[in-house]
Amino acid sequence: MVQFPRDFLWGAGTSSHQVEGDMHNSWTAWEKDSCERLSREAKVKWETWQQERFPEMFDSQNYISGKTCDHYNRFMADFDLAKEGEHNAHRFSIEWSRVEPEEGKFDEKEIEHYRKVLAALHERGIKSFVTLWHWTEPIWFVERGGWESKKSQEFFCRYVKKIAESLGDQVDFWLVLNEPNVCTRFGYFIGTQPPGKNNIISFLKAYFNLLASYKKSYKLIHNLKENAQVGFVNSFVYYEADIWQPLNKIVNNIFKYFSRYFFNHTKNSNDFIGCNYYSRNIISFRKNTVPPEKSSDLGWEIYPKGIYEVLKEVKKYNLPIYITENGLADANDSRRKKFIEDHLRYVLKAIGEGGDVRGYFHWSLMDNFEFPELRGFWPRFGLIEVNFETLERKPRKSFYAYKEIISSQGVSLLK
Ligand code: BGC
Repeated sequence: MVQFPRDFLWGAGTSSHQVEGDMHNSWTAWEKDSCERLSREAKVKWETWQQERFPEMFDSQNYISGKTCDHYNRFMADFDLAKEGEHNAHRFSIEWSRVEPEEGKFDEKEIEHYRKVLAALHERGIKSFVTLWHWTEPIWFVERGGWESKKSQEFFCRYVKKIAESLGDQVDFWLVLNEPNVCTRFGYFIGTQPPGKNNIISFLKAYFNLLASYKKSYKLIHNLKENAQVGFVNSFVYYEADIWQPLNKIVNNIFKYFSRYFFNHTKNSNDFIGCNYYSRNIISFRKNTVPPEKSSDLGWEIYPKGIYEVLKEVKKYNLPIYITENGLADANDSRRKKFIEDHLRYVLKAIGEGGDVRGYFHWSLMDNFEFPELRGFWPRFGLIEVNFETLERKPRKSFYAYKEIISSQGVSLLK
């Protein structure tokens, strides 16, 4: 009988902008400028069933991150909950705009804050997976040209070096970048999130500066600590073309080529694979609407087999694999338990076929500000429900279902 390895890491993830609160970074001004427009556009952007279920999308406040979960002040209690759920690993991000609010001037108090965060995890026996860039930047960085400027590489590496020097002895795994492919697509090609460009040249510049910054960061962290574990998080969408049979394979390969490009061009700069998987993407000329019962609240198809296909695909790299994000928006928690179980069964199948999967992080530990394309507060991704008025936390049923899987080391999945 196949089982999860004994030292398998189980946890959940968050990111600074989505949970900490009181930010002053590249997103905050954009939120203020776009909130009215987004609340008007919700009428065309979302399906009727979504509009009816989540009228918050018509409120401009939905698009302002504000205090969000106030995790900055409540991280200890939040980690107590993670511990209660038997998590032995946790993924979070360091907010660059806090630690370097002015160009070249690091705020030691903020670095100290993250030292406490890391210590709190350590005290609870929870391993840390630290993201250094989860899409947000200090304002000065944007004013100096952001990722489009070649200087970005130098700026980013200076920040990485500072953090690695200051906190390196406490970090278990480094995730230098989060989904650079997705962030550059939304931010520089489609323009639905900061900096709101839709220009192929801007996109290419940002993309390749991120690529170079990553490779340099990898070396830099290893120079400071030879045996550090360094990688980044890639979004591995499972593609299936439905155009015309003889063409489908070719189309699939084209989509795959571009979405794996970043990963394939960081060869020799990855100690492991950070794999995010959410859904299947059907490429077709027809509109592909998934019935609400087979999709998340965001309308994303629930397709557990896709995680297996992706794990099968990345096996060829011969690197340890961590599933750094997998989850769904499910406000009434009616599909999350089954979602987790079905995906983990497929992870187990992949392990049984030789996949070196060593950890799983559910997205997310708690409800948060869903900032990709500035969707706001209504999509509820949390194992823990957050009341955004009182900031009260309440573990959902699925939190306990996940806990049971962890404590039985996955054996409960086989029943
Ligand atoms: C991002 C998260 C986000 C999640 C759900 C990922 O692309 O890393 O920040 O909340 O998807 O949309």
